[in-house]
Amino acid sequence: MTAALIDLPTAPTPTRLWMPKRVLVTRAAAEQPHTAEILRRCEAAGVEDITLLANDRLTGLRGETERETYARAKTTLAVVVAPPSALKPQPIPPSADWRIDLAKGCPAHCQYCYLAGSLSGPPVTRVYANLDAVLDGIRTHAGQGTVTSGTAERGHEGTTFELSCYTDPLGIEHVTGSLAEAVRRVGAGVYGDGVSLRFTTKFDDVADLLALDHQRRTRVRFSVNAPDLARRFDGGTAPLAGRLAALRALALAGYRVGLTIAPVMAYPGWREGYGDLLDQVTAALDGVPGLDLTTEIITHRFTPASKDVLLGWYPHTKLEMDEDARTQKRSKFGGVKYVYPRATMSEMRSWFSAELAARLPDAPLLYWT
Ligand code: SF4
Repeated sequence: MTAALIDLPTAPTPTRLWMPKRVLVTRAAAEQPHTAEILRRCEAAGVEDITLLANDRLTGLRGETERETYARAKTTLAVVVAPPSALKPQPIPPSADWRIDLAKGCPAHCQYCYLAGSLSGPPVTRVYANLDAVLDGIRTHAGQGTVTSGTAERGHEGTTFELSCYTDPLGIEHVTGSLAEAVRRVGAGVYGDGVSLRFTTKFDDVADLLALDHQRRTRVRFSVNAPDLARRFDGGTAPLAGRLAALRALALAGYRVGLTIAPVMAYPGWREGYGDLLDQVTAALDGVPGLDLTTEIITHRFTPASKDVLLGWYPHTKLEMDEDARTQKRSKFGGVKYVYPRATMSEMRSWFSAELAARLPDAPLLYWT
């Protein structure tokens, strides 16, 4: 299949585009060919403050207060070179075989952000300028699988590479171009035929992706939640309606697609809220030919470190992070996380399994966690 041979769906108008206030380019990044594309996109987006640094140290990220530091970091795009340690793909079950990072950090403001507590320092978005070296991990790890969950449903995708572990790659794509380049190369077989990309997003600017010859080697999952939760907690992202319009457009363009329903919360009225979500998804995908849809479900959890960071970022949040209402779970490295108690988990899991089977019977649930 080529993009030229199919009737491309109209790109929905993006409902949310991040506009960095400033772009910092380290000296090493300035020498990378992909940086020219990043700067071209930034200028086209109207970014006026672009600074080429004299060295590779990012400075001036902190403000006078924590609030100011947060605001400054979230409006800064840093163009840097990924260090050698970041170039080696890491296993990332259950989502994919390997993790590849196009960037680290995200400009959105979700009050439960998965990155809280896992990235250190001010939450600036760092995009990697040495894109060739970053993507070379696909070549070196092609054919090496690690994932066991949902193997039957995804075996035909070959070795899978997750692009959204530490960023929302679509949320910054209009000022980086890294995602389209990765999708294009994998579609063209630059790294062989037995590999595929996947990423999850809460944004909806998919016009560039629609035009690519992706060869169905990329699965785009939209991170969605019950509409009232998405409205309350997903700051700075595309609204749910925009994500679902983008989901439909990509599915019509032949992409494999997916839903990452996350973070699932056991709040009063959760059945109605998630029922409403599934109704909206079903309507958005109505009549899409050749639909290849998967689902993934991640329940809400937090760690002492992430709670601490999130309360610093969002001191007035109404997000429930009550240790007494949760069960402690220890990782194999001894870390603690707080998850819903077993009875709540099993009640929600049964509900989702039944409702997904009834409404989206051809969409396998790859994992529940
Ligand atoms: Fe965090 Fe994802 Fe929200 Fe970005 S979109 S702020 S990475 S939860």
